[in-house]
Amino acid sequence: MENTVNGIHHITAIAGNAQRNYNFYTKILGLRLVKKTVNFDDPETYHLYYGDKEGTPGTILTFFPWQNIMTGRRGSRQATEIGYSVPENSFDFWLNRFEKHNVVYNKVAEKFGRPYLTFLDPDGLKLELIASETADVRLPWETEEITAENATRGFYNVTITTNKLQPTADILTSVFGYRLLEQHVNRYRFVTDTVENANIIDLVEVPGEKPGHVAGGSVHHVAFRVKNEEALMQYREKIAALGLNITDKIDRNYFYSLYFREPGGVLFELATDNPGFAVDEPVERLGSGLMLPPQYEEYRSSLETTLPKLA
Ligand code: ZN
Repeated sequence: MENTVNGIHHITAIAGNAQRNYNFYTKILGLRLVKKTVNFDDPETYHLYYGDKEGTPGTILTFFPWQNIMTGRRGSRQATEIGYSVPENSFDFWLNRFEKHNVVYNKVAEKFGRPYLTFLDPDGLKLELIASETADVRLPWETEEITAENATRGFYNVTITTNKLQPTADILTSVFGYRLLEQHVNRYRFVTDTVENANIIDLVEVPGEKPGHVAGGSVHHVAFRVKNEEALMQYREKIAALGLNITDKIDRNYFYSLYFREPGGVLFELATDNPGFAVDEPVERLGSGLMLPPQYEEYRSSLETTLPKLA
């Protein structure tokens, strides 16, 4: 029986304009577009995946860009902050970069003794750069302007805002195998020891906080990483045994998934490492072509006309 997930697999959020989203994540933040595909439930919308060179689980932030989406609101029952790991001495670089590109940011502050820098993407999604306590050895994707000494390494953590700590904490500890590492006021930090990175979930308990509205600039779901389909189905049994509704296994082309809403209201996914992003294009060319699942291949020419070109 699988008892511990391997940290965060990916995080999916909602954006407005696709080109603006692409510019921000690839050019300003310096991530690699690792997959350009469509929303499998709404193929006239992109599904864009940003990550490291290979789209390693724990580095992948994905978006559904809907041009006319209304702006969401942060609140409870949501993942409200996405933290990226950066080198300790990179904050001056990022502050200058954000200033130059008119990115909304706060001054550097500290959480659990670690410096962090909060900023917003163009749709208002709240992100953070955090210097981890030990050097993050993950190989970063580098661009001309953002080299290894400053580049993000993938996720550090994700923060969930909840009205009531315990129900969500129970899922993290008794189902996913996280343990409580630290607490400061109403922020509870949970960690899993099976992986060294992307292994932190912060729960912030705010009893009176109104539920957030999931729309532009907010997180749609958080996916946790499991090794393979066998492990995936073991989690399915565990979660179903708690009386929670959970989907059947879904083929997402690049991983297999299950979805369930945790008792605190956040949509959680479990996603496998296999088969990965190189399943339909070589690593060197990841993100360069429009990749369609088999059911939409016959609509390729019309989709290529409808979907905006990204450059
Ligand atoms: Zn997902």
